[in-house]
Amino acid sequence: EKEELKKLIDEEAVTADGHKVELWGNIGSPEDIDAVLEAGATGVGLYRTEFLFMNSDHLPTEEEQYKAYRVVAEKLQGKPVTIRTMDIGGDKELPYMDLPKELNPFLGWRAIRISLVKQDIFKTQLRAILRASAYGQVKIMYPMVTSINEVRKANEILDECKRELDEIGKKYDKDIKVGIMVETPSVAIISYKFAKEVDFFSIGTNDLTQYFLAVDRGNELVASLYDSFNPAVLEAIQKVIDAGHDRNISVSMCGEFAGDRRATELLLGMGLDAFSMSASSVLQVKKKIRNSSYEKAQKYRDEILALNTPEEVLENLR
Ligand code: PEP
Ligand code: MG
Repeated sequence: EKEELKKLIDEEAVTADGHKVELWGNIGSPEDIDAVLEAGATGVGLYRTEFLFMNSDHLPTEEEQYKAYRVVAEKLQGKPVTIRTMDIGGDKELPYMDLPKELNPFLGWRAIRISLVKQDIFKTQLRAILRASAYGQVKIMYPMVTSINEVRKANEILDECKRELDEIGKKYDKDIKVGIMVETPSVAIISYKFAKEVDFFSIGTNDLTQYFLAVDRGNELVASLYDSFNPAVLEAIQKVIDAGHDRNISVSMCGEFAGDRRATELLLGMGLDAFSMSASSVLQVKKKIRNSSYEKAQKYRDEILALNTPEEVLENLR
């Protein structure tokens, strides 16, 4: 079986009837990139930069970040990398930053919310990403967005960073693409409005499931309720994909669900453009896609979306 999968490394992720999608890897550090390339992924759909911050005893400097991002961009040799700005807070702490203890950290000060307040830290990161964009196909992605104001504010700060780099003559990709994680209900529900503000969507099913279902993603007591096959989550995913496509922007998924083979055919049928997952899942998902028919997957999607419970969905997916 392993040998059989290896033969797929250089093959495209295309269905039997010719519908092509992209399979990307998720990484937490530049060291992860080799595994992604070895699995035949055609890019990185999620670079979780917070690990750079968490594995350091000080705030990483612009140079330190630039080096890390540039290595990834260069190793990918023109294949895209989506660099997500730091997603600190929630369950992820930073000892040297002295973040306040909160009663509901997942509903509190995290990710883009911190970046928009601690703008020095945000700008340092954005400048580092911009500079790395001169060495490959780099995209920027904001995490935990809940409002259009946040996107606009973050983009204003990004523009400031571009001007600063222009002034000192540093190169960057002037056409760099900027997107958002779709991982909160407020974005999913009006994703057609967000689609006018950004270049791409990446659906974060880990948080989207948590927030849609009001179920803590790390709490054992409610683990059985935490289910991305819940029809509410599935309908949200479909809505986001349609909203993106209506405005001609690409929609990827970088939550665990993208690497869940039980969901592959369904996500294909929903029209997902790119699946981003841990390197270890890429070949299995590719095999599944190559054995699928896009036309059948679309019919099948309608049947699945008409169901009422996660149990019915899972029963039907088997
Ligand atoms: C997600 O929420 O689905 C996601 C990919 O982000 P993270 O798991 O890092 O919160
Ligand atoms: Mg998330």
